[in-house]
Amino acid sequence: MKKEDILAIQQLLAAPKKIAIIPHRSPDGDAMGSTLALYHFLLKLNHQPTVISPNEFPNFLAWLPSSETVLIYENDRANCTKVLQETEIVFTLDFNALHRTGEMEHVLNKLTVPMIMIDHHQKPDTFATYTYSDTIYGSTGEMIYNFISFLDKKELIDKNIATCLYTGIVTDSGSFRFPSTTSTTHRIVADLIDIGIENSEIHNLLFDNNSYNRLQLLGRALQNMKVFSEYKTSYITLSQKELDEFHYEKGDTEGIVNYGLTIKGIHLAAIFIEHRDENIIKISFRSQGSFDVNQFAREHFNGGGHINAAGGKSYLSMKETIHKFEKIISKITI
Ligand code: 5GP
Ligand code: MN
Repeated sequence: MKKEDILAIQQLLAAPKKIAIIPHRSPDGDAMGSTLALYHFLLKLNHQPTVISPNEFPNFLAWLPSSETVLIYENDRANCTKVLQETEIVFTLDFNALHRTGEMEHVLNKLTVPMIMIDHHQKPDTFATYTYSDTIYGSTGEMIYNFISFLDKKELIDKNIATCLYTGIVTDSGSFRFPSTTSTTHRIVADLIDIGIENSEIHNLLFDNNSYNRLQLLGRALQNMKVFSEYKTSYITLSQKELDEFHYEKGDTEGIVNYGLTIKGIHLAAIFIEHRDENIIKISFRSQGSFDVNQFAREHFNGGGHINAAGGKSYLSMKETIHKFEKIISKITI
């Protein structure tokens, strides 16, 4: 982060302020972990922070400290709009373009207060007054840890802040197995463990909370998997009908895409999930090695993300979407 930006932000934070902290729509562990970590940090600096999520966060994150204070824009537009209009600083975390907040974008676009973006996705937009964006980091959680260090306030990191940061780091790094995991990641986590987080317990809370329905849905997803060895590609589909059959709840499809990559020789994995209420097919891409799914998602499926993990959407039917995908992969080198 630029020195002059740090100084400017230190000045902004010198007196207590009303501060909104925004994750992306359909927030994941890193989005919720980093926003709530910043929330607890700003509280300790005597500010009045509020986390406003564009829509509901998944149940497997509901144990995060102070998650009960999070406002949900799409459930309470009037109140959230009022809070945003009264806010004096806006932090946007874990996303690179305002459209990633869905409908909330229109309210955010009209605000004139300073905005601070902290994010690790490629090609950040220029909406923020101060931008701390670096794709070298595997999670926004690591960057919030750095941000607190830049402000010279590391001693304020307590168990709550550390727990939220660890959640962001462990979820976005695939439990420290993705290539974005560095020695710095482990050094930060070592620090968080020294502060007193219960890392094993957090891991349990995040990952050992399957419902029977979720496992059945996973079973169906794996049975639906198609493998194209010649294109080093596999993909999974889940229709709305199948989601309904297994009483889908938010978060149930989290991580399923990764199974495709565990097949020997597969370098590109995708999952296509039908969302009938929004009339879209939501897509996740994962890759191994140099195949850039951020570029792929941007070019073909209205999305983006990182080199090895990205997402997007299709406005075509499932059948047409799959046809389009198969046609593209048959023409490129993966
Ligand atoms: P996931 O597949 O887990 O939803 O997302 C993987 C990565 O891609 C995440 O970092 C996420 O923020 C990003 N991503 C997911 N969907 C979209 C999208 O529609 N647009 C953009 N720009 N990024 C996305
Ligand atoms: Mn992230």
